[in-house]
Amino acid sequence: MTPVNCDNMNPLIEKIKEVEKPALKLEPGTEQRDAYRREVTRYSKDFLHRLNSDNAYNGNNDKTIINSLEVSETGKPLPQLLEIFEKAVEKPGINAASQGHLGYIPGGGLYPAALADYLAAVTNKYAGIYFGSPGAVLIENKMLDWLKEIMQFPKEATGHLSSGGSIATLTAITAARDAHAVTGAAAEKAVIYSSTQAHHCLHKAIRIAGLSPAIHREIPIDSQHKLPPDMLEVQIKKDKENGLQPFLVVSSAGTTDTGAVDDLDAISNIAQTYGLHHHVDAAYGGFFILVDSLKNQFKGIEKADSITIDPHKGMFLPYGIGAVLIKDTLSTMKSHHYKANYMRDAYSDDVDLSPADLSPELTKHFRGLRMWLPLHLFGVQAFRSALEEKNLLALYFEEEMRNNGFETGGKPELSVVIFRYKGDLNEQQAETFNNELVRRIHLDGRVFLSTTTINRQTWLRCAILSFRTHLSTIRQTVDIIKKLKKEIKAQNLE
Ligand SMILES: *Cc1c(COP(=O)(O)O)cnc(C)c1O
Repeated sequence: MTPVNCDNMNPLIEKIKEVEKPALKLEPGTEQRDAYRREVTRYSKDFLHRLNSDNAYNGNNDKTIINSLEVSETGKPLPQLLEIFEKAVEKPGINAASQGHLGYIPGGGLYPAALADYLAAVTNKYAGIYFGSPGAVLIENKMLDWLKEIMQFPKEATGHLSSGGSIATLTAITAARDAHAVTGAAAEKAVIYSSTQAHHCLHKAIRIAGLSPAIHREIPIDSQHKLPPDMLEVQIKKDKENGLQPFLVVSSAGTTDTGAVDDLDAISNIAQTYGLHHHVDAAYGGFFILVDSLKNQFKGIEKADSITIDPHKGMFLPYGIGAVLIKDTLSTMKSHHYKANYMRDAYSDDVDLSPADLSPELTKHFRGLRMWLPLHLFGVQAFRSALEEKNLLALYFEEEMRNNGFETGGKPELSVVIFRYKGDLNEQQAETFNNELVRRIHLDGRVFLSTTTINRQTWLRCAILSFRTHLSTIRQTVDIIKKLKKEIKAQNLE
């Protein structure tokens, strides 16, 4: 039999050819790609240039821009879309790339991380499973190995690079739950301990992990905003005596509010004595362990059972990368490992565990590359120095605030300073004063600071963690605060 070319007769082929043409628009040629890239790099270059003069905060939102975000059937030219991006996305709100971002926990955005994301997207390697891309999984695992090393965790510990600290914490809480078999009716007698300063992602993780029936004891903080180990121990003993099952304690290596580092060594020892899983939330503070002068504050972290640490905070990476380290690999796999029929090929000869076995994700962003590239390009020393610089800037800022008549939360442990003005005002007046101060800082917009409530008082926070924040920005911040304080005083606010 001779093969017959039946292209012309098959209506299916006709249809394929018909839709192929418009579909080809999705694969621009070399010239078009170069043109796109030039537009985007020009925009990024201008953006980075603008950072020097642009505000850190813009509270004026132009709501009309929302109309331009409508999806169209035919598409729009790139320059027009970049214009929309500038107006709708870049300008309003907090400029998280700005050196003046000193609120919440500031963001980063190391440039090579953006290039790594570009490479990850263009090559689109499948980082979920070793079989799919051994190289991508090895790079992610190498990054985890490095994190284990700096935290003095054993090499056999496991973990994954997550989208952020919240998902990292969820994985750790789930592993603790499974290690202690906290299911069904057992959950009602299970007890979780943290201080009142625990990040709210813990509360979310508890709910998502089905641990809402468990008792969550939030131990009041001491005068230094830390979890008091003696009170923790007393409570655990009491709960055990009453037939409850304490199984998890969550401490903080740098709280979001005040940057306080709990006594990790004492808490680790208590956890070991009473057989509890000790999880350390080091999402914000963890990378300060790289700084020699601060290392001692993290003593005992190596004895913990799991750690959350956020490279999109302390490594200045763009948003979208956290990490969890967990010593108990089997318990981690219990919730996350899955062998599906359609994935038969994937398990034949894996030499490394895959992220898909250790995290809720299957198909995932190859986010290890955005950590790997800057770390290898710059070396650890650059990060160490930048983190030490942030700590020193915080010490300097706290000193300046005190010298200018502000109350502070004391010498900052890492890089968060809390302060408020009291002077000879009564409590009511002081509240009004400090709220007015932050309102005017936001209105000015050159730097962005946030507030928190501690003991029912409003405190301003200066959180220094952007790699772009140097002495000049902190001096500028001090000047702005001094000037605004003078203005408010002159108006004699009641
Ligand atoms: C930011 C933060 C988290 C939550 O991490 P995300 O990356 O925002 O999900 C948890 N704990 C602390 C102490 C944090 O600072």
